Amino acid sequence: MTFQTGNVLEVENLSVYFGRLPGSLPVVREVSFTAVGGQTLAVVGESGSGKSVTGLALLSLLNRGLSKVTGSGNFYPGSGPPVDLLHLDTRKMRALRGDRVAMIFQEPMTSLNPSLTLGYQVGEALRIHRGASRRQARAEAIEMLERVGIPDAPRRADSYPHEISGGMRQRVMIASAMISRPTLLIADEPTTALDVTIQAQILDELKKLQEEMGMSMIFITHDLGVVAEIAHAVLVMYAGQVVEQGPVRRVLERPRHPYTRALLASVP
Ligand code: ADP
Ligand code: MG
Repeated sequence: MTFQTGNVLEVENLSVYFGRLPGSLPVVREVSFTAVGGQTLAVVGESGSGKSVTGLALLSLLNRGLSKVTGSGNFYPGSGPPVDLLHLDTRKMRALRGDRVAMIFQEPMTSLNPSLTLGYQVGEALRIHRGASRRQARAEAIEMLERVGIPDAPRRADSYPHEISGGMRQRVMIASAMISRPTLLIADEPTTALDVTIQAQILDELKKLQEEMGMSMIFITHDLGVVAEIAHAVLVMYAGQVVEQGPVRRVLERPRHPYTRALLASVP
């Protein structure tokens, strides 16, 4: 377990381009921010503003093929030198994920393996990165499934993804991400697909786990209610750029940018 105090992530001038045609415009442009150890940074903005692209770039998932990423994203793992998360090769990125850095994707079905039981896949990071036995990993997986609110977890551990609801699948994704007790969790709209009461429960659990583990979180959402609930700091994106950032109370109570004001005014 790592209790980070200083900055856990320093992103400077992150830009993301799709298509390598000369003169193609970046979808995300010169985004800079820092994430502080043990805190939650919310990334907000309307649909299409570049939130998910930013999250994916932070795991070196866009720095290949037809997409290009520039800038730097130094991650401080607690010991050893910083690692630039934007430009890792596949092997290094895999090693870091599931161990120090975890991500919860917006669409849970794409990241669950349909042919593995829930218990087996939730325990995967422990088997691969922590040398846990199958039995140990399963026991901890069941514990984590219980914590994220899966009823009858010991039995559910033997179910397959298609046998549970979308809301349950999203909880399973959260359990998979949290089980390795990552230093940094990037969560892309992890509760958007869930109904409001379940959303509140999950946010509560995430907050508790975060405090216990001293984990840092980058929480992508379009929901300002969630921001007030969970974040320490906020970054507001519009059309691929950061228009405003700061401590959550300052941004929500005294927004400086017209877009942030409009966003706040649209909340019922
Ligand atoms: P958000 O998560 O804020 O809703 P995204 O980060 O998904 O927005 O998308 C930001 C912009 O990047 C959008 O205009 C989207 O169409 C574009 N985009 C996302 N992925 C790709 C891709 N693979 N190829 C081309 N454009 C993309
Ligand atoms: Mg998105």
